[in-house]
Amino acid sequence: MFNNKTMLDRFSALETPFYFYDLDLLEQTLDAAKKAADKRGFHIHYALKANFNEHILALIQSKGFGADCVSGNEVQKSIDMGFDASKITFAGVGKSDKEIIAALQHHIFAFNVESIQEMEVINDLAQRLGVTANVSLRINPNIDAHTHHYITTGLDENKFGVPNSELEKAASVLRGCEAVNLVGLHFHVGSQILDMNVFKSLCVKVNEWKNWFEERGTYIKVLNVGGGLGVDYKAPDENPIPDFEAYFDVFDKFLERNSKQEVHFELGRALVAQCGSLVSKVLYTKSGIKKHFLIVDAGMTELMRPALYQAYHKIERIGEDKGEEVLNYDVVGPICESSDCFGKEVELPRCQRGDLIAIRTAGAYGEVMASRYNLREEIRYVYSEV
Ligand SMILES: *Cc1c(COP(=O)(O)O)cnc(C)c1O
Repeated sequence: MFNNKTMLDRFSALETPFYFYDLDLLEQTLDAAKKAADKRGFHIHYALKANFNEHILALIQSKGFGADCVSGNEVQKSIDMGFDASKITFAGVGKSDKEIIAALQHHIFAFNVESIQEMEVINDLAQRLGVTANVSLRINPNIDAHTHHYITTGLDENKFGVPNSELEKAASVLRGCEAVNLVGLHFHVGSQILDMNVFKSLCVKVNEWKNWFEERGTYIKVLNVGGGLGVDYKAPDENPIPDFEAYFDVFDKFLERNSKQEVHFELGRALVAQCGSLVSKVLYTKSGIKKHFLIVDAGMTELMRPALYQAYHKIERIGEDKGEEVLNYDVVGPICESSDCFGKEVELPRCQRGDLIAIRTAGAYGEVMASRYNLREEIRYVYSEV
C-alpha cells in the first residue's frame, strides 16, 4: 500500500510523525461487519477505547453502530458525536459516582456491572435520581484466550467481572435492588483472538450461565459477548478486513437463544486497527559490527504497544523499491527508554536519513495511548477522504 511514489510525495510535505487513517478501508471494514451482523440480527457497540479520533467516530456513528465506553468521558464523547444513548454500554471495574450519575442521566442502554458492591452503588444512585438503571452482569467466564497475559481478561484470577463463586450472592442482591433492572449478561475474554475455538468455548459458558439464571427465574434478554476479535498484524495488505462472517457464524451456531433474546458485541480492534498507520521519518542510521539501527522520529510516546506488550507491527519503507540491498534493522525511537523499540531485525531496503517508514496496523490502541512523556509534541494525524 505504501510502496509507491504517490504516497511518498504526499507524505513528504508533512511534518512527522503522524497517524495516517485510510477512511476508505475503515468504511469497507464497517460495512463488512455491519452486513455480517445485520444478517444474523446481531448488535455491535464500537469500543471507543481502541480509537476515539473524531473522524473515525463520525464514520462509525454514521453507520449506525452503538458505543461501548469505559469511562464517563467516553460516554459523553459518544453522546457528543451523535451516538444514540440507547445504544451505549458502560463497562469498567472502577466507575466513579460522578460517572455513574452522568450515565444514568443520559439513560444509556446498560451498565456492565463488575461487582456486587458496584451494583449496590448504582442502585443507590439511581434511587436518589428517581430512575431505573439497566445493567448487564459481567461474568468472568474463566477461559484462557491464549494471548499475551496483559490482554487476557477472562481468567478467574483477573480483576474483571464477578467471579463465579459470587454469582449466587449477586443474584440474591440483585433481587433486592429495586432501582436496578437486569437486562443481560456480559462477557469479554480478551483481545487479539484469532482462534475461533476460544469464541466457541465462550458460547458454551454463556449458555451455561444463561440457563443458570433462567432456572432461578431470571429472564435474560441480552447476551453481550464482548469483543476481542483479532487482526492480521503480519499481513495487513493481504488481510485488511477481518473475517466477520466466520466470527459471527460461531455465535450464530453455538449460542442458544430464542427469537426475543438479543446478542450484542463490543468490537474495537477488529474495526479500526488496519485503517491506521504511524508514519515516521528516519533521523539517523547507525551500524555496529553486527547490528544496524534505524533511529526514527516516532517513539513509544506515539505508539506504545511494542514497548507495553512486545506487540509486533509490520514496518515498511514508504516509496518505490529501487533494488537496494536488504538489511536487518532494529527500528528504535528517540525516547530515553530501552523499551522504545518498534521492531528488531526488521528487513528493509538500505535506508537513508530522511526516508519515511510506515508502522502498520496502528489504528487500534495507538493514538489513544499517546503520551507527552519527554515533553513530546502532541500527536498529529491525517486521513484519506472517503
Ligand atoms: C477493550 C474492550 C473491548 C474491545 O476489545 P477489542 O479487543 O478491541 O475488540 C470490548 N469490551 C470490553 C469490556 C473491553 O474492555
